[in-house]
Amino acid sequence: MRKPARPLAALALVLVCLSAAPAQERADRFDFYARGPYRENVPRPQTVLRYDVGEFHTNYAMMERVISSIAQAASDRVRVFDIGLTNEYRMQHVVAISAPENIARLEEIRSNMRRLADPRGLPEAEAQRLVGSTPVVVWLSYTIHGNESASFEAMMQVVYQLAASEEPATLEMLRNSVALVNVCANPDGHERFVTWYNSFGNGNPDPSAAEHDEPWSVYGRVNRYRFDLNRDNVATSQVETKNMQRAYLEWNPQVAVDHHGQPSQFFFPPAALPVNPNLPPAPTERWLAAFGRANAAQFDQRNWDFYVRDIFDLFYPGYWDSWPSLQGATGMTYETDSGGWKGLRWRRDDDTIVTMRSGIAKHFVASLTTLATAASNREARVRDFYEFRRTAVEEGQRGPVRRFVLLPGRNPGAAAELVENLLRAGVEVQRATAPFRSARAHDYSGKDSPARARDFPAGAYVVDLAQPSKRIAKALLEAHTPLDAAFEREQLARFERNELRSANKEGYGFYDVTAWSLPLAFGVEAFWTEDAAPLTATPVQLPAPRPHAGERAEPGGGVSHPVVTPLVLGSAVAPEGGVTGRAQVAYVIPYESNGAASLVYRLLKEDYKLAVATRTLNAGGRDWPRGTVVARVSRNPDNLHERIAQIARETGVTVAAVQTGFTETGDVAVGSETVVSLRKPRIIVAADEPVSVTGYGALWWTFDRMGVDFTPMTIQAIRSARLDDYNVIILPDGSPGQYFARFGKPGADQLRGWVERGGTLVLVKGAAVFGALKDVNLTSSRLVGSDDDDQKPSGGSEAQATPTPTPAPGGEAQGAQRRGAQSGPAASTPEQREIADSQTEKMEGAAPGLPPIASPSARPGRVPEAVPGAIFRATLDRTTPLTYGYEAATLPVLVDSGYFFRPSKEGTNAVVFDADERQPLHVAGFIWPTTERLLRGTAYVVDEPTGKGHVVLYAEDPNFRAIWRSTTRLFFNSFLFQPIL
Ligand SMILES: [Zn+2]
Repeated sequence: MRKPARPLAALALVLVCLSAAPAQERADRFDFYARGPYRENVPRPQTVLRYDVGEFHTNYAMMERVISSIAQAASDRVRVFDIGLTNEYRMQHVVAISAPENIARLEEIRSNMRRLADPRGLPEAEAQRLVGSTPVVVWLSYTIHGNESASFEAMMQVVYQLAASEEPATLEMLRNSVALVNVCANPDGHERFVTWYNSFGNGNPDPSAAEHDEPWSVYGRVNRYRFDLNRDNVATSQVETKNMQRAYLEWNPQVAVDHHGQPSQFFFPPAALPVNPNLPPAPTERWLAAFGRANAAQFDQRNWDFYVRDIFDLFYPGYWDSWPSLQGATGMTYETDSGGWKGLRWRRDDDTIVTMRSGIAKHFVASLTTLATAASNREARVRDFYEFRRTAVEEGQRGPVRRFVLLPGRNPGAAAELVENLLRAGVEVQRATAPFRSARAHDYSGKDSPARARDFPAGAYVVDLAQPSKRIAKALLEAHTPLDAAFEREQLARFERNELRSANKEGYGFYDVTAWSLPLAFGVEAFWTEDAAPLTATPVQLPAPRPHAGERAEPGGGVSHPVVTPLVLGSAVAPEGGVTGRAQVAYVIPYESNGAASLVYRLLKEDYKLAVATRTLNAGGRDWPRGTVVARVSRNPDNLHERIAQIARETGVTVAAVQTGFTETGDVAVGSETVVSLRKPRIIVAADEPVSVTGYGALWWTFDRMGVDFTPMTIQAIRSARLDDYNVIILPDGSPGQYFARFGKPGADQLRGWVERGGTLVLVKGAAVFGALKDVNLTSSRLVGSDDDDQKPSGGSEAQATPTPTPAPGGEAQGAQRRGAQSGPAASTPEQREIADSQTEKMEGAAPGLPPIASPSARPGRVPEAVPGAIFRATLDRTTPLTYGYEAATLPVLVDSGYFFRPSKEGTNAVVFDADERQPLHVAGFIWPTTERLLRGTAYVVDEPTGKGHVVLYAEDPNFRAIWRSTTRLFFNSFLFQPIL
C-alpha cells in the first residue's frame, strides 16, 4: 500500500477537535473575510450565490455571475480573458488580478515576459532591467478534475480576496505579482458532478451513503470525452487543453499551481521521485522547497494536516505541474482533503468529520500563501525563469542531443499532427527545404541504438534543441526518459521482496506510464542527432483556427471551436487530400493513414460500395499493397465522383483515379476476384459499468473524430437487444470480473451465438481477459499465469488458486487516491486503479460465480507484474487483414498492464511479441526483471474465427489517451474488414 499510516497525525486531529485552543483555527469554521478591510462596492460571492461558503455546490453559470460581478466592481484590479469554448459551449476564462498600476500596463508585462522567455538576442543589461521591473506572473488553476469541487469554490474566494481587500499584505502582494486565475479547467465535468450532487446529496457523512458514489455516466473528474485533462499535455487532444496551453504561453508564468482534492490530508510539494530529468535539479528543488516551507508554516500555525513528497511525482510531462515546470515555472499540485466524492461532509476512518468548507479554506490559504511567496521573491523567481530559458538554449547547443528529425514519409498526416502538438507547446519546428546530412544520427529502435551517418530529405521536420523550449521539446520527443536511479532501485527492491511473498505485497511508487515518446506513439519515423550540420529550412507556424468540416462554428461568428479536433487540421503542414482526376473504372484509396480509415468508413456509412485488395494490386500504372481499398464506378451511383473527392479532401487522403481495369503487371487489378466486398459496420459499444470510463472516452473521441457512428449500450441492453441488427460489438477496456458478473455464462453464450451467425466481437484489454476466461471461452487464448493457463510452468500451486485478484482497498473506502486514482498492488497506472478499485472493489463480491483469473499471490515469478506503461516492439503477421495498412515488420506498442495473452491455438495471432530471444522487445520505459521473459511469445492482437464471425482481442487499449495514434488503424481494421477477416 502506498498510503502510509499516520497515527500521530490522526491523534493530533482528534486533539484539535476536542480542545479548540484559541490559537488553533478550525478549518470548518474558517473565516474567509478576516483579511480586510474590504471594498464595499465589490460583492462577496455569497451575495450573488445566496448560500454560505461550502454549503452548496456552485454551478458554472452562477460562478460566471460571481466573477463578472466582482470584475465589474473592481475593474481597476481585474481583467477577464475568454480563452475558448469547451465541447459543451462553456466559455473558459482566465482572470488577471493585480494592483491597478500593473493592470494598466498588462500588455507591457506580457511583452516583458515574452522577451525574458526567449533570451536569444536579448542583451544581458536589458534582461536584468526587465527582471527588476516586471511583476511575477502566477498561474492559479482550479478544478481540472471536475468532481474535486472544493477547488471550484475556493477559486471564487481567492478572486474576491484579491479584488476587494485593502489589507496591506494583500496590496503588497498585488503590487509585486499578476495572479492569472484559470477559473475552471474542466467546466463540463464539473457541471455533471454538481448537477448530480446538488440534486441528490444530503450532506450525509456516512461513507456508505449513495451521494459519495458518483454514477458511471456522471464521473465529473473527466471532461465530456471522458479524458483526464491532467494527462493530456502529451497528446494535446482535448479542446480544453488547447485553450489552456495557448492562454498559458501568452503569459509565460513563473509559478503554476493546479488545485485538486482527493487525498485524506492536504498535499503540496516538494514532489516525490521520480522527477523528469529534463528539469534542472537545483533550482527546481529549491523553489519547490521554498513554496512548500511557506505553505507548511501557514498550515502548522493552524494545526492543519498536510504531507509533502510521498506519491505525487513530476515525471510524466502531461500533468499541469510537470508541463509548466518544463516551460520554466515552479509547477505544483495542491490536493485538498474534502469536497468532491466526500461531498459536503465525510466521516473519516477515525470517526472525525471533514467538511467541504474546510477543504475550501485550505485551498484558499495555500493559494494566497503561494501568491505572497511568489511576490516576496519576485525578482529572484523572475530571474530564475529567465535563467531557465537561457540555459535551455545553451544546453541545446552543447548536446548530447542537438536535434530531433521527423520524417513525414507515407503518413504525412501523423507527422503534421505531431508537429502541431509541438508548436502548441511553444516548441520551434523547422522544415528542411533541401536535403541535409548528420554524421551521428540515432534511430528510435531502442535505448542503445548506435550512431550512424544519415542523409535526410527535404521536407523533414527538424527540432533544433538550441531553443528556449528545449526542455519540453526533449521531454516529449525522446524515446526513453530515465527514472531517478534511487527510485528505480527502490522499486526493484520491492519487486524482489514481493517475489518471496504470497500475500500482502508492497505497492510500487509509479504514478503513471513511464514512456510516452510522441514519435513512437504517433508512428512517425524519427531520429535524434548528436550534431547540427548546416540546414536550409523554414520555420513551421501553428495554423490559425478556422472552420472545418466536423467543427461547429461559434454562434455569431468569431473563432471556431472544434467539438472534436478534426482529423486533418487546416495546418500549413498538413497534407492536402483529394482525387487525382475523374475515374473511368475505379478509385483507389491508399490505406496508409488514419485519414484513409476515416474515408473508408465514411463512404461505407453513406452506402457506397467498396472492396479491398487482399493481395498486391496493380492499378493506375503502379502496385498497391494489400489493404488498398477500391471504389468501383460501376457499382456506385454517379455522385461517387464528387463525394469521394470531398471526403478525401477532408481526411487528407490522395485518392487515385483509375482509367482501366487492365493490369500492367501481376494478376490483381481492380476487377479481380481477390478484391473483395466490404460491408457497412453497424456498431454497438458497451457503456456504463463495468466499462472503464476513460477507455470508453478514448474510443468515443476517436470515433467522433473519424466520423464513426455507434450505439452505446449498457450490458443489460446488449443482452436484450436484437443483436442481428448490428454486425460489430465492441467491449472497451473494463473489469474482467464485472464483465463476467454482468454477462454471466448465458450472456457469453449469447455473444458467441451472435458471432457464429456472422458478428464481429471486439474485446479490448480487460474485456479480452473476460473473453479468455475458460468459462467464457470466446477465444482459445488464455491469460499468462492464470489458473486457465495450461502453459504455466509446473511446480504446482494450483491448489492455492484464489479468485480474481481484488486489489486491496485503501484505508478509507476510497481513501488512497493518487491524483484522484486509487492505489492497489495489482493496479499500476491511474486508469488501472480507476478500474481496479472503483469498479472491481465495488462489484466483485456480487459475482459469486466468478471464475479464477489469476492468482498473483500464489505463483510468484509466473504471473506478470503489471508494467507501468512501457514501449515494446511487436511483430506483425502481414498475411491477415488485421494488419492492413502496416507494411513494416514490427510496430512499437504500449504495454500498460500485466495482461499477457497466450497465442490463440485456433485463430490468427496478428500481432505478437517475438519468441526469439535474439530479437529485442523492450524499446522504452520501465520494465521488471521478468517482464521480457513472460512477454515473449505472447499475442497482442488475436483474431479468433468463430462460425461465420470473428472475435478480435486487443491486449491493450489501442486508443489509449489519444496518445497512441499509430494503433488507430489497427483497431479500425477489426470492423472495416470484418467480412474477410
Ligand atoms: Zn485531481
